[in-house]
Amino acid sequence: MVISARVRRATEGKDEARSQPTADALSIGRRIRHFRTEAGLTLGELGDRIGRAASQISVLENGKREPALGQLRDLATALGVTTDDLLDPTPVDARQALELEVERNQLSPLYTSLHLPAVKVKSLPQDALEAIAGLQRQLSTMVRRRAATPEEARRVNRVLREQMRVQGNHFPELEQVAQEVLDRIGYSGGPLSQRQTARIADHLGYSLHYVSDLPSSTRAVSDTRNQRLYLSHDDVTGHDPRSHLLTALASHLLGHSAPADYEEFLTQRVEANYLAAALLLPESEAVPLLQKAKKNREISIEGLRDVFGVSYETAAHRFTNLATAHLGLPVHFMKVHSSGTVHKAYSNDGLPFPTDPLGAIEGQYACKRFTSRTVHRVADRFSPYYQYTDTPAGTFWCTARVLPGGDFSVSVGVPFAHVGWFEGRETSKRSASNCPDPTCCRQAPDDLAQKWEDASWPSARTHASLLAALPPGVFPGVDTTEVYSFLERHAPED
Ligand SMILES: [Zn+2]
Repeated sequence: MVISARVRRATEGKDEARSQPTADALSIGRRIRHFRTEAGLTLGELGDRIGRAASQISVLENGKREPALGQLRDLATALGVTTDDLLDPTPVDARQALELEVERNQLSPLYTSLHLPAVKVKSLPQDALEAIAGLQRQLSTMVRRRAATPEEARRVNRVLREQMRVQGNHFPELEQVAQEVLDRIGYSGGPLSQRQTARIADHLGYSLHYVSDLPSSTRAVSDTRNQRLYLSHDDVTGHDPRSHLLTALASHLLGHSAPADYEEFLTQRVEANYLAAALLLPESEAVPLLQKAKKNREISIEGLRDVFGVSYETAAHRFTNLATAHLGLPVHFMKVHSSGTVHKAYSNDGLPFPTDPLGAIEGQYACKRFTSRTVHRVADRFSPYYQYTDTPAGTFWCTARVLPGGDFSVSVGVPFAHVGWFEGRETSKRSASNCPDPTCCRQAPDDLAQKWEDASWPSARTHASLLAALPPGVFPGVDTTEVYSFLERHAPED
C-alpha cells in the first residue's frame, strides 16, 4: 500500500479502474435491447416511436455507438423506463453478463492480436457461450502469469530500488505505523520482547500456533477466517523467533490483500520487512542511539545489533533506513553469497554495483575485491571486518560480516568522506577495484590465459534456478496445495 502506491504511479500500463463497472456503449445497448424485447417491440416499432430508422436502433443496441443524452431520454420514454435504467452498468441477468464479458474480451488487444473472428454472442447456445468465456478467462490468466518472468521480476526490482534510493530507503508512513503499534502495546524502550510481539498478534485478534509441519515453502501461514497464525516450531529455537512472526503480522497491520501481480507481491514483501524491522528497532529509540554514536565517532552495526537483540543482517539493513534521513549519511548495503552473486543490494552513495544490461543487480557477481567478497576469505568470523576500497567512483569504507551458516556476507559502507563517524575507520586493510572493467577480476591474467586458454575444458555447474521461470501463482514460489491442505489439517472444528 504505502510503497506500492508510489511504485504503481511510477510504472505504466496499470489499469486500476478496469474492475469498476461503468456504463459504456455496449452495456447501454444491451439494456436498450433488453427493455425493447420486454416491451414486445421490433426494432422498427421502437424506431418509429423516437423518429429513427430501425438500422440506427440496431447500431445502438450493438454498442457500436453511444446514444446522445437527448436520444437516451427519448428511448427511455418510449420504453417506459428511466434514463438511469439504461445507464445502469450491471447486466440484467446472468446470460447478459456472460454476453457482455465475451464481447468485451473480443474487443481486447489480446483477442485482437490473435486474428480470430468475433463471434455474434446473441445467437450462441448457453454452453458454447460459457465455453468461450471460460477459454478467454484462462487465456488472460496464462498470459498474465507468463508476464511474471525473470525479466518482469527484474524490471519491478529496478523500479523498487530506484524508489528506495530516492527516499534514502526511509518510509515515514511505515515508521508511523510502527510507532502507533508500539504505543498500543505499551512499548517503552529496549529490545522488543517476545511477549510484546505476541501482544501485537493479540491486538490484531490473532492466536499463535507453533507447528512442526509448516509448509516448506512458507515462513508463516495465516488462517484469516479463524484468525490463526501458524509458525514453525524451529522459530522458537531459531536465531530470532520474533522476525518471521513480525513479518507475518506486518502484512495484517498494513492491510495487505492477495497480490494481483508480481509487482504487488514484491512491494508487499518490502513493506512487511520494513515494518518488521521498524518494530524491532524503533525509530524513536534507534535514532537517538545512532546520533549519540555519531557524536562519539563510534557508529557500529554490531552496537545496533546488540542493543536491540536482532541479527546482524536486520541491524545492517535497518541502519540504511535511518542513516540518510537522520544522520545525513549516504550509505550502501550488500548481501552476497559465498559464490560471489549478489542477493540483495541497496545504495544511495554512488558505489558502482555490478549490473546486467537491464540494470538489475541481483544475481550479478560482486567484484572480488569488494568487502562483501574479501570477508568470505577472512578466517576470523567473530571480529568485525573493515576495509577501504578504491573504486572508479572514489574510495569507500565498508564493514562486513559473514552470517551464521557461512553462505552469505552482509556489508554496509559509506564514501570516504563520511568514515569519520564509524568504529573501525583506522583499519589498514585496503583494496582496489576497477570493476566493471573486465580486467579487474573477471578476466584471467594474460600469462595464465595464454597458457591455458586452449587447454582447458571445465564442465559448468548449472543452477536450475537460473534457467527456471518464476513459479506461477498468486504467491510466487509458494505451493498453494500444500498451504491449503495444511490449513485444512489445522483449522479448528466448527
Ligand atoms: Zn572487480
